[in-house]
Amino acid sequence: MAGLRFESVQKFFDKEPAVDRVDLEVADGEFVVLLGPSGCGKTTLLRCLAGLEKVDGGRVWIGGRDATSLQPRSRRIAMVFQNYAVFPHLKVVDNIAFGLRMQKMDKNTIDEQVRSAAELLHIEDFLDRYPAQLSGGQRQRVAVARAMATKADVLLMDEPLSNLDALLRMEMRAELKRIIQKLQLTTIYVTHDQVEALSMGDRIAVMNGGRIVQVDSPLEVYNNPADMFVGSFVGTPPMNFLEASMTSDGGRTVVEVSGGSFTYNGADADELTGRNLVLGIRAENIEVHSQPAPELVPAEVQVLEPLGSHNLLTVRTGADTLKVSAPAESFPAPGSDIWLKIDPERVRWMDRSTRQAIT
Ligand code: ATP
Repeated sequence: MAGLRFESVQKFFDKEPAVDRVDLEVADGEFVVLLGPSGCGKTTLLRCLAGLEKVDGGRVWIGGRDATSLQPRSRRIAMVFQNYAVFPHLKVVDNIAFGLRMQKMDKNTIDEQVRSAAELLHIEDFLDRYPAQLSGGQRQRVAVARAMATKADVLLMDEPLSNLDALLRMEMRAELKRIIQKLQLTTIYVTHDQVEALSMGDRIAVMNGGRIVQVDSPLEVYNNPADMFVGSFVGTPPMNFLEASMTSDGGRTVVEVSGGSFTYNGADADELTGRNLVLGIRAENIEVHSQPAPELVPAEVQVLEPLGSHNLLTVRTGADTLKVSAPAESFPAPGSDIWLKIDPERVRWMDRSTRQAIT
């Protein structure tokens, strides 16, 4: 068993909190992605778990054991970093065997573990080469194989794909997911790339300013962000946010945004009426119409970006600018009038002063 637990973990640099009272549990065999902007504390949090930073408050638990004061080498953790960290003067085989020799394993066991890690990563044909004779993607595979070969209980990966080009990154994303699923390793994977986070993790922990602001499944984080930061950080394009208000009149509840209004029948209408609201809506949950009709909000097309699978529109409605997905075969010209249907069931309501979701 190698579940993990951060319990109110704190780490300060020059009296500034880099990690601020973080609580997080990762189940045995679970794959959790730590996602957040540069400088939010992701790497520091990983280093606290690995024992490379001493925590200033709180505790870390590995496999049910309080590991807060354990030496890094006693924590049974393997790490993969963004800069590969393969040794240039060692052949691939010796790079992979490095950690095992440090542990003074016998030669047969080392050979066996190197071979199985190399097979897993499809690099068995490169064992006699030096890193300089490999491509970037192959070098990254060596770094991962070296981590896998140690048979650690826990795998920590810090932006492992960020040095690869876009295509290779996409390939390695699926490859790493396959390997980690197969080995059922408890994994924490750090990235600031939200596509990686959404596509790889069992759960995503979103960090901002040293704190974890939401931990949920990728779909939940995408569809139901806990606050406006998460809604704008996760997803391309970011979630649209419009100031809105809700009024009730003769049994009908109406949402008003700067460009128009529409009826709202949600069960939470009473709770939302009269509050200062922000309406959060994803680009794909707004329908584009070419004619006016009741319940539609008028808008003007500013930019049309054909993306192949669909077209991305930038539109102006009242005082707001929105991103809207239109079908690939629809090409409204910039300057033309369109009408928007904002799907009320897909709206995420936020409080304008706290910026938090109203759930
Ligand atoms: P990135 O995505 O850019 O790698 P990150 O989310 O991993 O960022 P950290 O590297 O954990 O962020 O840094 C968190 C904060 O702590 C930053 O403000 C950083 O400047 C600061 N920090 C990190 N390491 C040190 C250090 N050794 N000394 C002083 N400040 C540090």
